[in-house]
Amino acid sequence: MTSRVRFRIGIIPRATPNRFGTIKKMLVWLGFTLLLLGMWFLLRARGLQQRAGLPTGRVVYMDMDTAHTLARPLYDPHIGLVGKPDYILEQGEALIPVEVKTGHTPQQPYPGHVYQLAAYGLLIQRVLGRPAPYGFLRYPQATFRIEFTPRLMDELLAVLAALRADEEREDVPRSHNHPARCRACGFREICNQRLA
Ligand code: SF4
Repeated sequence: MTSRVRFRIGIIPRATPNRFGTIKKMLVWLGFTLLLLGMWFLLRARGLQQRAGLPTGRVVYMDMDTAHTLARPLYDPHIGLVGKPDYILEQGEALIPVEVKTGHTPQQPYPGHVYQLAAYGLLIQRVLGRPAPYGFLRYPQATFRIEFTPRLMDELLAVLAALRADEEREDVPRSHNHPARCRACGFREICNQRLA
């Protein structure tokens, strides 16, 4: 009996420090590994951001990456506007929309793309309540910073009003001569003005 008691008492003091020591080592290694992983993900995200020609800033939303997808598109029923930019960067209080375009890189951004980006800025301000003073249009060979000036936002509101007025009309004349635009258009099947 005495030897069994001594045996039990003798085993526990020797095993406990080793076990705690092992657990402590494992926790240290786990923390170290998680730290390295975190740094790797951060550097990788920065690398992707720089390779994409995007400015610095925390990516709070990325339409092309399900890990950052917004729950739903930005929608403002008062102005009848809905949209999802490709990225939203956070720079201080401001949220900066980024729209990525493929194909030809123009000398100057296309007006339609500028209005699209400005519309995202308007939605960020109205729906998320955060300032959006500018945005970025990313083409394959160049990135343009677009300031959301009062003049541009007034032009955007005028364009939206004209679009709403056209919705009421029976016959709206085509505003371009680009078959490629018609090929990619969602209204192509029902449009009597289509070029392709
Ligand atoms: S199909 Fe019709 S609505 Fe679509 S781009 Fe062509 S002309 Fe415009």
